[in-house]
Amino acid sequence: MLPRKWMEGPGRMRLGVDICNTIANVNAEILRRYDVSLEVYPFPELPPDFFSTTEGLTLLARAKPLPGAVEVLGILSRLGHEIVYMTSRPILAIDLTREWLAAHGFPRGSIVFLPRGYKKVFAAHYGIGLFFEDDPIEAAELQEAVGQVYMPAWPYNKNVKGRYIKRFNSWKDIQNLSDCHLRYRMVL
Ligand SMILES: [Mg+2]
Repeated sequence: MLPRKWMEGPGRMRLGVDICNTIANVNAEILRRYDVSLEVYPFPELPPDFFSTTEGLTLLARAKPLPGAVEVLGILSRLGHEIVYMTSRPILAIDLTREWLAAHGFPRGSIVFLPRGYKKVFAAHYGIGLFFEDDPIEAAELQEAVGQVYMPAWPYNKNVKGRYIKRFNSWKDIQNLSDCHLRYRMVL
C-alpha cells in the first residue's frame, strides 16, 4: 500500500520511476535468449556495454511492461503527481524509450538519462518523495535522499534492506490496494 498522502488528490508531489525491470520486464527478454542467473546485478554473464549494441537495444524495445505498472502510474498521475522517469540506459536508447513509454500507455513525464550511481543526487535535487527502483545499489542510496523507495522483487535484490525500502512482488498488488482505497474514498 502506498502511503496515504500519495493517494489523496490533488497531488503535487514528484515521484521517480526507474524503467528497466521496474516497469519494463527486460529480464524476461534476457532470460529468453541468454543463460543468466538473476542472482547478481548487473549480470556478469552479459558484457558491460551490451545495451548499447543493436542486440541490446532491440531487447529493450521488445520488453513488455510489468503487469499493473501502467495502471498504478496512471492513477498517481491522474491524482496530480509529477512523474520523472530516471534510467541508466545508454543515450542511444532515448528515442526507443520515449516511444516505448507512449506505445504502452505510460503517463507523460520527463525522462532523465544518467549513469548508474547518480540517481540519489538527482532525486535530492528534483525533490522526489517516492521512488520505484529495482537496482540494489541505487535503491540503497536513494532511500537516503527520498522518503520512500518501492522495490519490485527480483532474486538479485532479495537481501536489500532499509528502513525506507519496501519490496513488493507485483504492481498488481499495489493496483488492487489503490483501487480499493479510491473506491472507499468515493463512498465517503
Ligand atoms: Mg532497473
